[in-house]
Amino acid sequence: MSANLTQLETAARADAVVVHSYLVDVDVRDAQQPEVTTYSVVATIELTAASDTWLDFLGDSVQSVTVDGEPREVAYDGARIALTGLPAVRCTIRVEARAMYSRTGEGLHRFVDPADGQTYLYTQYEPADARRVFPDFEQPDLRAPFTFSLTGPDGWWFGSNQPEVSRENIADGVVRVRFAETQPLSTYITCLCAGPYHRVSDEWNGMELGMLCRESLAQHLDADELFRLTREGLAWFTANFGPYPWGTKYDQIFVPEYNLGAMENPGLVTFTEHYLFRSTPTPAQLQARANTLVHEMSHMWFGDLVTCRWWGDLWLKESFAEFMGSHVSVEANGFAEGWVNFATGRKVGAYLADSMPTTHPIVARIDDLEAAKTNFDRITYSKGAAALTQLVHYVGLDSFLAGARRYFDAHAFGSATLADFVAALDAETSQDLSGWIAAWLETSGHDTLRPRVVLDDEGRIADLRIERIDDTGAARPHATTVGLYRLRDGRLELDTRVEVVLAGEQTQVDGAIGRPAPDLVLVNDLDHTFAAVALDERSREVLVRHIGDLDPLARAVAWTALWTELRAARLTAREFVAAVLSAGETQSGLLTSLLGWSLTAVSRYTPVPELPGLAQLWRDGARAAMQSAEPGSAEQLLWAKAYLKAAALAPQDVRWVLTEGAVEGLDLSVDLTWLAWESLATQGAATEAELDAVLAGDDTAAGRVARLRCWASAPDATIKAEAWARAHAVGGETNEQVDALLAGFNALGQDRLRAPFAETYFDSLLTVWQDHPIEIAMRLVRGGFPERGFVSASDWLAANPSAPATLRRLVTEGAFESEIASTVRQASRPRPGLPNLGD
Ligand SMILES: [Zn+2]
Repeated sequence: MSANLTQLETAARADAVVVHSYLVDVDVRDAQQPEVTTYSVVATIELTAASDTWLDFLGDSVQSVTVDGEPREVAYDGARIALTGLPAVRCTIRVEARAMYSRTGEGLHRFVDPADGQTYLYTQYEPADARRVFPDFEQPDLRAPFTFSLTGPDGWWFGSNQPEVSRENIADGVVRVRFAETQPLSTYITCLCAGPYHRVSDEWNGMELGMLCRESLAQHLDADELFRLTREGLAWFTANFGPYPWGTKYDQIFVPEYNLGAMENPGLVTFTEHYLFRSTPTPAQLQARANTLVHEMSHMWFGDLVTCRWWGDLWLKESFAEFMGSHVSVEANGFAEGWVNFATGRKVGAYLADSMPTTHPIVARIDDLEAAKTNFDRITYSKGAAALTQLVHYVGLDSFLAGARRYFDAHAFGSATLADFVAALDAETSQDLSGWIAAWLETSGHDTLRPRVVLDDEGRIADLRIERIDDTGAARPHATTVGLYRLRDGRLELDTRVEVVLAGEQTQVDGAIGRPAPDLVLVNDLDHTFAAVALDERSREVLVRHIGDLDPLARAVAWTALWTELRAARLTAREFVAAVLSAGETQSGLLTSLLGWSLTAVSRYTPVPELPGLAQLWRDGARAAMQSAEPGSAEQLLWAKAYLKAAALAPQDVRWVLTEGAVEGLDLSVDLTWLAWESLATQGAATEAELDAVLAGDDTAAGRVARLRCWASAPDATIKAEAWARAHAVGGETNEQVDALLAGFNALGQDRLRAPFAETYFDSLLTVWQDHPIEIAMRLVRGGFPERGFVSASDWLAANPSAPATLRRLVTEGAFESEIASTVRQASRPRPGLPNLGD
């Protein structure tokens, strides 16, 4: 098959072909039939081609191809439809074909709601899955106006990028709905949705706003809050970037079994329905959702109005949108702690990815679509966003926004590259951008910044330098701050904060000279730059005990430093967990991260002999924190979840939590209930009948997925084998079911039950990669990696040098994490003669 498009061949196609328009009719009238697998599609494309070329189509079959009405022989290999002998002038190609419904979230996904039997359809394309729905030129730089029509059951809602313009009855109970022609669009941001979606509408400045979800989720659609975010976002973006480019409607639809957070289709943005909360969300969850909502909105300009020419510049639109997600959620939506959540969420993931042997420069070389697909990674999104945030501090926000406006004006409805963006920005700033770009975007890895303090005879600072250690040779400039903190009456307080631009091997911080001796020097304490922050002995000691005294952003930076110390085996799991239990953290984003890291520290970074003791300490600590937290608060809920998870590792009957009033103020939501039962199932303490009873009380799509996860979590060798087989069955389970099966398979404390699968895992890697669509294959390779598999992984990598690069990358990353865990466990073994810190 010829499905993997390369940059070279698409660049050649863009030189040879001009696409004038698409007319696409998708017929889903049979979508409600139980066993339906395919649907009919007719694509009519006007183009001028200077040479032979091809259309992309990953479908079931092609019935006919005509050129200007003349039938042609169909030359279709399953991925490409050859177009040969075309006239040298503008012509019309018409293709009749059958496409396949998706169960993996790629292309046109079909979902039947277990709550009411209703059928829902939506599309998801990026980077290259529009060709699963209709024959097209699947590359971002061949833009054209699209006119879509959908044929389907009368009474359904039908949506696309543009509003509906006509509707006709074409058979009994069947309608054809046509949508207005779009501005020139890239294929990957076109969109179709159909089904009995529930829709709520609102209005902003003459624009029609819509919010949609499945009928059975209508009660969870908090439309008032979502419309507030939308109106505030539109006001901010139109004030800063100019008029909304895509007409007069902006629909946002929450869809099932979605592979990502959201997708920026102009006029019809798709979101995962996990953003419709079935239980009380924490402030951090609300901020994260707002962040995503305005992230997608920023793409209406950056990404949609101006599109990257090829996937090598994917990072630019995503980093820009990530920056805007945090910035606008703070500036327009009033989430004051957006940057704190960015620091402990996205950035920590970026540091991790950037420490791996598989890291790459932010500007990556993307030769083909397979490489593009795995480049939707933490370097592209999170490190890129962190670097762009640093750029904003380097050139100033006003210059940055002016540069963006200049870029939109110059390239509206076209494609552009990084060089175009830099040129626009360069016109608005006096800072040297070429050096910045080379240092930040064209190198891998990151600097570690360490302060060095010299005191004078009176105990004041005579000299303070920030050194770059583990220098990667990239000479990145860092516009950042250094915070000097002192203990006063047992509390850590900011003495002074100095702004610096770090350049070269070391930089003197003049503003610190003469200040009293600090107890903590925290480099980058406002998190302006992307760098590891080294701690000296004194600072580490002070932080472990007094971290709670810092401001939230500084705490986020400090916790990240401690987490890095743990993963570098300079801190033990026990010390880390003790610090978390005593810190009294209440910022919900930070606390969410800390609880996740602590569970990892206990379950993966603890030497086996110490595991039962530390797991129990963590469980009891979490339980006590839940019980002493303010009733009904976010931290109470987060500690409750931590307790339920910990009890899976250090068994305890947690049914008592589900008794009304047992923990005052705790929201006994369906989510919390399922978490408790998952804990019991993992312990082997839940019967099938009990789990079925829980399902009877929540027989929804989410409930069924949770039930499946509980089943697969049982500490039972037969069930593990069955869960493994079901997850790996080709064409068997949907993306969300595979997630649930793998989560259950990987339930806490069951390493021994999983050990027998290690050999199968490596033996079957190549076939798994070959047999499954990439969304499923990636889940299986990541989710099946054996806990102690790093030695086998290096054998496998040595034996399979020509395995697909993406597969090798995933295995390398699994091995990296497995080896880190092993190293930290080794280093954490109690050393004879040394006190066991943290007890
Ligand atoms: Zn995005």
